[in-house]
Order: sequence, then structure tokens, then C-alpha cells
Amino acid sequence: MSHIPHLINGERVAGNGRSAPVYNPSTGDSTSAVGLADRATMQLAIDAAKAAFPAWRNTPPAKRAQIMFRFKQLLEQNENEIAALISAEHGKTLEDAIGELKRGIENVEFACAAPEILKGEYSRNVGPNIDAWTDLQPIGVVAGITPFNFPAMVPLWMYPLAIVCGNCFILKPSERDPSSTLFIAELAQQAGLPKGVLNVVNGDKSVYDAVDALIEAPEVKALSFVGSTPIAEYIYSEGTKRGKRVQALGGAKNHAVLMPDADLDNAVSALMGAAYGSCGERCMAISVAVCVGDQIADALVEKIVPQIQALKIGAGTQCGLDMGPLVTAAARDKVKGYINAGVAQGAKLVVDGRDLVVPGNENGYFVGGTLFDRVTPEMTIYTDEIFGPVLCIVRVGSLEEAMQLINDHEYGNGTCIFTRDGEAARLFCDEIEVGMVGVNVPLPVPVSYHSFGGWKRSLFGDLHAYGPDGVRFYTRKKAITQRWPARKSHEAAQFAFPSNG
Ligand code: NAD
Repeated sequence: MSHIPHLINGERVAGNGRSAPVYNPSTGDSTSAVGLADRATMQLAIDAAKAAFPAWRNTPPAKRAQIMFRFKQLLEQNENEIAALISAEHGKTLEDAIGELKRGIENVEFACAAPEILKGEYSRNVGPNIDAWTDLQPIGVVAGITPFNFPAMVPLWMYPLAIVCGNCFILKPSERDPSSTLFIAELAQQAGLPKGVLNVVNGDKSVYDAVDALIEAPEVKALSFVGSTPIAEYIYSEGTKRGKRVQALGGAKNHAVLMPDADLDNAVSALMGAAYGSCGERCMAISVAVCVGDQIADALVEKIVPQIQALKIGAGTQCGLDMGPLVTAAARDKVKGYINAGVAQGAKLVVDGRDLVVPGNENGYFVGGTLFDRVTPEMTIYTDEIFGPVLCIVRVGSLEEAMQLINDHEYGNGTCIFTRDGEAARLFCDEIEVGMVGVNVPLPVPVSYHSFGGWKRSLFGDLHAYGPDGVRFYTRKKAITQRWPARKSHEAAQFAFPSNG
């Protein structure tokens, strides 16, 4: 069985021999073992990043950007290999894996603009012979902790930008699907990153404290986290307590509102992809359809049921499928547990994916597309993030009621409205308490030159991820005011506060 190592100071490092199995979720087979870092291994990465920082922070941004250009090229050249690695450990379809990679590459493209991004601001003659400018300086050693569901894209939200801003990075990826993440980091190395600028340390919190080592290390100045809400809250509170900059993106429950005038055929296609794509394991997945009126709800059920029943489900490593398995046996059991709870709590189970068996892949972690109707807000299938292929229909009487429902939910990551009514769409965009909003767009994931972030318990911290907010997060502003008095001139001491008045 192959061993997945760490990448520290530009070298593969095996660690201390302790490891966890990694599975192919389509077959249930354990395919490799990932090294789990202890504190000593994590310290090697922290030391490497710290040692690389002085030279890297003084490397011209244009040179840093050139590495990103080469990195982008390498990612594109290796697209199929990366997609295969993602599918083999995550289970998502190859097409979906390529989609995630392309959205990750967008962030590398944004990072290629480093010289422009880091220009700062300049003002000449703010006072007599005085010029002032604002510099964007790197923070130092920064770290990222990423989830299993986007092993390529989410790390690429973080380190290309952090690195072109002049920081050195330690990435702690998910221990469930680490191969593509490591492969991509090695491509960044191949593109020309100096040793120690990017380090990847595998590990988990519960066993060997890899995450706590990052939180506690005084050398680590900022932490970016993406994952579930309880861990986001933990990392935010423990990190900020120690004076670190933290941005922690958490879980979600994303609602799509269907207005009576929605273009139903297009809304159904959009819902199918957004609810069942990647087996529902997306933080922007639509898991609740809020239907305004019984008529649109009945029409939705009639149109969507045959499409759910026709979903092509199989091993993620094949082409031409709609959906693969869930990531682990535990994830499958959790999703089935929620479906059982929905039935017990009185929701109407319209399509039941619990008994799906994929011929030839009987041991894979599959759950079929599932649909509940007449879901009410106190049911756990409504309150909790299921993170599986389960869509819940909630029926309401008006747009105001739909918006109140969404605003009352603890999460506020993404949402969308399907309508032909501009006034309704405008009200929705203005008043909904959610960070990312789509109008007839089911997965409103911002492009790399905007920033990504939810509201409420979907994000802890002040800044969103990547894009302009990412630059703010990974840099510190320094305002410099400079005077070069004319030779032989002398100014008397001034005791009043200096002004242009
Ligand atoms: P997770 O919270 O279990 O794990 C995320 C990371 O934290 C992993 O690297 C993991 O090893 C580490 N971790 C796990 N337990 C920890 C602990 N006790 N202390 C410290 N670190 C710990 O999340 P996941 O299951 O990998 O990913 C799914 C979750 O991520 C979902 O809730 C999903 O909504 C969320 N997510 C959010 C976004 C977003 O942008 N808001 C994006 C992707 C995923």
C-alpha cells in the first residue's frame, strides 16, 4: 500500500511512521495510508517556512508572479491526472473534479497579477515636501486547514495568493483525500517556489494535534480554515485568543426559492445539479427548495422526481456519470441516519436513495438521490447540514415568508431565487441575510476576482476568502510618510498638531 508523505522544505518527508488509511469510496477499498504529523513534524514545517520568509518577502512580486504563471501551466498540463486523483479518493465524477480544478486555477490566475495587486497607494505632497504611501507587506508564516470536499480548489483559494503576497505557507489538508493536494503542491514546487515557501503537512486534530500545533505556534501569524462550523468556531476562538488573524469558513444550509413565476424547466435543471452534483458534498449545494405556493411545489415534484430516479450513479472514476459515492462509510451512514430521522419526524419521503446498490461496486459508499416534501423548520433534515444527496421541499405562502425562513436559519452561506420578477429578485438581494446570492443562478460561487464568504455561522472573521479580501487578509498595511527637507533649510519646532490648515 502506498504511503502519502508530507512536503516540508521542498522534500517529501515520511514523518514518524504513524498513519491513517485512505479509501476509494467507490469500492470501499483502502488504497493508501497518509502520514499523520505529530508536533515535531509540524515544527519542521514551521521552521522551514520561517527560514524561507526573509528572502521570499524581498523577492520582487513580478518574480513571484512568474512562478504562478508556470504553476498555472503545469496545472493545466496535468489536469487529467489531478482529476483522477481527486475522484479516486473523494468519489466525485471526473468531470466534476475537472470543474473544481478549473475554479482553483482561476485563483492562480488572480495571483499572477501580484505586481498590480500589491502596488499600494501613493500621494505626493501631502504636506510641504512630504510624500505618503501605503505599503502592503506580508504577514510572515501563515497556515491553511482545508476540508475533504474540494481537495484541489480550496487549498488553491489560499496559498497562491498568500504566497504571491510574500508569505510562506503551511497547508494542512484533509486526511481523507490528500493525494491530489500533495500532487498539486509538488507542481507549485516544480514551477520554481523556493524550498520552505509552501509546505504540506498531513494530519488530523483528534489523534496527533497537527492543527493545535499550528494554532499554538507563535511563528504562525494567520490561519485560514475551511470546514465544518464547530471546528471553524474552535479555530477562530483559539487562534484570535493568541492574537492571530483568523478567517474560518464553516458549514451551510443553502435554500433555493422558487417563485410561482419561475421558469420551471430551467429551475429543475439547476436544482438537479446544485442538489445532487458531487453527491451533495458542496458547501454551496442547494439542500432546501422553498416553494412559494402549492402549485409550484406540486409542479416541481412532478418534474424533478423522474430526473432524480434517472440519475446516473457509479464509481466516480468513470466518465459520463451524474454522481459518485459519499466520501466515507461514516458519511454514508450519517446521511442515511438523517433520512431515517426525516421519515420518523413526519416529512414525506418522495424518492428514497437509502437502498441504492451499484452493481460491481457493492461495497462503495453510495446513497441515491433523495427527495423529501412537506418538510417543516423544526425537523433535523431542515435544521442540520446533511452534506449528502438529499433535497428538502418546504412549502410557504409568500416571498416574505420564504425570506424569513432563510433569515432565521443559523447558516448563511449561499442562496438563490428563481423568478422572472425583477422586483422580487431585488428585494431578495437587498434583504436576505446570506453572503452569496444567486438570481436564477443556483451555485453563486464568486469568481476569483471577487471574494467568497458566508454570513452568520457560515463564516467567522471579518474578511471573505480569496480575491480582494484575500489580499487584505494576507497583507498588513503600513502607511509611510516621508520628507526630504531642502538642503540648508531649517524649520522651527512646531508644538501644534501638524496640519495643512
Ligand atoms: P471538517 O471540519 O471535518 O474538517 C476540515 C479540516 O479540519 C480538515 O483538515 C480536518 O482534518 C480538520 N479537523 C477535523 N477535526 C478537527 C478538530 N477537531 N480540530 C481541528 N481540526 C480538525 O470538515 P470536512 O468534513 O472535511 O468538510 C465538510 C465541511 O466543510 C462541511 O461542513 C462544509 O459545509 C464545509 N465547507 C465549507 C466551505 C465554505 O466555504 N464555507 C467550503 C467547503 C466545505
